[in-house]
Amino acid sequence: MLPAANALDKLKEHPVLRHLSLDGVVTFTRLASHLKRDILQPQPIPQSNPSIPPAVLPLPIMNFLGASLGMSTDDIDDCWDILQDYVWEIPVVPLSSTDFHLFKQFGWPCGLTAISIYPPDDCCMNINCPNNQPLKKEYHKKAVVYTIDSGVQPAWNTSLYCPKCHTSYHNNYSVSKGLRTYYPGLPKLIQVGEHQFVETRVANHWRALMLYGWFSASNASRLFKSTMTDGDYFQPYEWGLSDTLTTNHVWDSFVILSLPSKRKIIITCI
Ligand SMILES: [Zn+2]
Repeated sequence: MLPAANALDKLKEHPVLRHLSLDGVVTFTRLASHLKRDILQPQPIPQSNPSIPPAVLPLPIMNFLGASLGMSTDDIDDCWDILQDYVWEIPVVPLSSTDFHLFKQFGWPCGLTAISIYPPDDCCMNINCPNNQPLKKEYHKKAVVYTIDSGVQPAWNTSLYCPKCHTSYHNNYSVSKGLRTYYPGLPKLIQVGEHQFVETRVANHWRALMLYGWFSASNASRLFKSTMTDGDYFQPYEWGLSDTLTTNHVWDSFVILSLPSKRKIIITCI
């Protein structure tokens, strides 16, 4: 990792960035590091190596970071030049409550959310497919995510398509020739509806309540609504999706959690 003094020296030489506070630098790196997949996906293939930061940020991300930090997109571009290696190397740091409100105020209108849902890999995972390039044909759907720390969160759910073997890749499964194949292992998010995802930690919590507390699925849903949601933060009309957690969502998470996690599960799509 680069010595911090190198980056700080470059910031000091910049006519505008020299006035950026330490909190501003940390906020820039924390927000940008959360958006790595959103930064990488729109890049041309030569700029899509996940181990190297791309030279240029996509415009929606420059707009979001600029609005969040009160800086012009030109200055955000310069800040990215200086801090991109650091952003790319640091582990993702949890967002603060202020960050979530920055996403709500400046990110949602740009098509950016605090939670982005992607397949685990940006390349085709079919070992018989000759395509080894990053997949750039993508589809986006709006989603809501039920989380343990930040309630109901809006999200963009991105799926990728391989034009060579015609496989589509989703958050926790792929689809090819009418077969849905769940990836081995438990994902961080479990899809429980067309537009609904649940954090695996939340699903585990519900399962424990059912096993040890004799909770019904409807009571698990009521408990989430009364203790883990912030009605002022997520308004369904602002995102176009309901935040209602149904008993079917709870039961679907229970079923997915019950799938064997160490091998692929194949289900025929109807
Ligand atoms: Zn393929």
